[in-house]
Amino acid sequence: MSLNIDFSERLKKLPPYLFVEIDRAKREAKAQGRDIIDLGIGDPDLPTPNFIIEALDKAASLGENHHYALDAGLPRLRLAIAGWYKRRFNVDLNPDSEVQPLIGSKEGIAHLPLGIVNPKDKVLVPQPGYPPYLSGTIFAEGKPVIMPLKSKNNFLPDLAKMREAKGVKLMFLNYPNNPTSAVASRDFLKEVVSIAKENETIIAYDNAYSEIYFDIDKPPSIFEIEGAKDVAVEFHSLSKTFNMTGWRVGWVCGNSKVVAALAKVKANVDSGIFQALQLAGIAALEADDSFPEQMRRMYHERRDYLVNGLRNIGWKIDPPQATFYVWAKLPKKFNSSMEAAKAFLDQSDIILTPGVGFGQDGEGYLRMALTVSKDRINQAVDRIKKIL
Ligand SMILES: *Cc1c(COP(=O)(O)O)cnc(C)c1O
Repeated sequence: MSLNIDFSERLKKLPPYLFVEIDRAKREAKAQGRDIIDLGIGDPDLPTPNFIIEALDKAASLGENHHYALDAGLPRLRLAIAGWYKRRFNVDLNPDSEVQPLIGSKEGIAHLPLGIVNPKDKVLVPQPGYPPYLSGTIFAEGKPVIMPLKSKNNFLPDLAKMREAKGVKLMFLNYPNNPTSAVASRDFLKEVVSIAKENETIIAYDNAYSEIYFDIDKPPSIFEIEGAKDVAVEFHSLSKTFNMTGWRVGWVCGNSKVVAALAKVKANVDSGIFQALQLAGIAALEADDSFPEQMRRMYHERRDYLVNGLRNIGWKIDPPQATFYVWAKLPKKFNSSMEAAKAFLDQSDIILTPGVGFGQDGEGYLRMALTVSKDRINQAVDRIKKIL
């Protein structure tokens, strides 16, 4: 007789994964041989640059790199991360106590609450938002408090409400933002840091898109704000900057106590990043800015094709200033973002992400990723014209 196996209460508390349905529909459509234009995935379409692949090749062929890595990562990798922060943000980090490599930043984001959140502690979770902020909170049995990001506030959280929210242990923030593509100014971050100090709240700032920006000043690190290290850690990764989503190289940095908490969780869960990948990561971090610059130009051009194309057919869209996402208000003829996503797939073989997949506050929007070529974007606009 087989056991009656049930998921844990923790697992049952996770929100339903709405993308499953879309994923299935997409696989079916592809299996039918339909010509699908996929604007759904937040994953760069172009390969990792050659100089990084060559660094991996070289490192992977050396036996000395085949063993368990150090939990804290190679000292040279932590130095390279600190060096990149100094060059890019003029921020000083102690590579020994203020930097912890991660197997992609997602795992660190999901594990962080286990290190600092006790059951029932309040955690501010922005929505629409990256799903691990909520699931990591639920795994640690914290109490998620949703912080809605609204168009009328430029998709920034309401600072007055944040100030009133007492007894909050941790808050997640992500700018440039996925999915809304909003950016945060230094003045805004300054307010957030001052509120966090007043309320004794730890800030987990997710800066995964800091290198993808258009016609604006470079997005800041939270550590450009004086005193931020007293209350904040920042998550970053090579995934979006160097087209390395599959490689899993990221890090957390900043407040040494919080970094140590996450490092301790990880020392009990994983055994570090494959050393050859760490060495390839160093090559990426020590390179000049020419590859990210080339990507910015490309996404910028794609953005203009999509936004202008959609405007020409009557869909009013604000061009994103950062990230590779267009966050578009639902056309009036649809009642929900799921209904619209289904219609786009069924009627025009286009995949996009329904806003509700990022939480209830994402309802009323669709996310389109600029991760297909200009030609495909133009084809997508032609197809969308027929639907609208
Ligand atoms: C892609 C992304 C990341 C980076 O994830 P990795 O695990 O480092 O690949 C982090 N935060 C957000 C909001 C993202 O969209």
